[in-house]
Amino acid sequence: MGLTNEKSFIAGNWKMFKTIPEAVELVEALKAKSDEFEGAEVVVIPPYPALHAVSEALGSSSIQTGAQNLFWETQGAFTGEVSGPMLKAAGCRYVVIGHSERRRYFGENDSTVNKKIKAALEHGLVPIMCIGETKEEREKDKTIQKVETQILRGLDGVGTDEFSGIILAYEPIWAIGTGLTATPEQAQEVHAFIRNKLSDIYGQETATYAIILYGGSVKPGNTFSLLKEKDINGALVGGASLEAGSFSEIVKESIKAYREK
Ligand code: PEP
Repeated sequence: MGLTNEKSFIAGNWKMFKTIPEAVELVEALKAKSDEFEGAEVVVIPPYPALHAVSEALGSSSIQTGAQNLFWETQGAFTGEVSGPMLKAAGCRYVVIGHSERRRYFGENDSTVNKKIKAALEHGLVPIMCIGETKEEREKDKTIQKVETQILRGLDGVGTDEFSGIILAYEPIWAIGTGLTATPEQAQEVHAFIRNKLSDIYGQETATYAIILYGGSVKPGNTFSLLKEKDINGALVGGASLEAGSFSEIVKESIKAYREK
């Protein structure tokens, strides 16, 4: 059985924030609140140097660890890169692939995303594949076309069984770190398109269970209305995941929204 969206899924992408002691402090604070997270799958995604310490600090807690990136080769002369087996050994279950910041600043594209997705699956990691349009693309009515291309290219050669171990995150680039959030209706429209596309590719059952996250300035105050939408199963949270209070509020709001769906 693959992944399912019966619970809300909230992942905190810490980006290039938090030294090892700061990361451990944050995760200890989250652990102290984790009794309240029961109706959600909660994941923290620290920078590489803190991954192992965070996984150790989490111990048997239900909170899981993810990485922000990986390289597709297993090992070798690839200075500065980190492989799937290294992430597994550091305690990761999830890995973000194709975040818009990696596409923008580090030359990632749908072809490298595709290689990374396959490498993650091969090494038993759950990829969280990020897709989304720029402000210009939205203004030119190209959102659906962009998202469709990213899905088709990013998942090229990925079969149905494999797909059931993948999470998608729709992150409109204009909403990331800007304070601008897509309205629940704008986000739902794209999420519904994504689920339909998945149904075309992998069949209706797989599409129904697929976890499709929204990301882009998610905060405690907008989580409920976004996650109440039918096709929004959770959130990839950047800025608001750097503080235990706001991140745990987001988790709690997501549980409330899921109850009322
Ligand atoms: C992200 O990092 O994926 C993100 C959505 O960031 P923020 O929540 O800060 O917009």
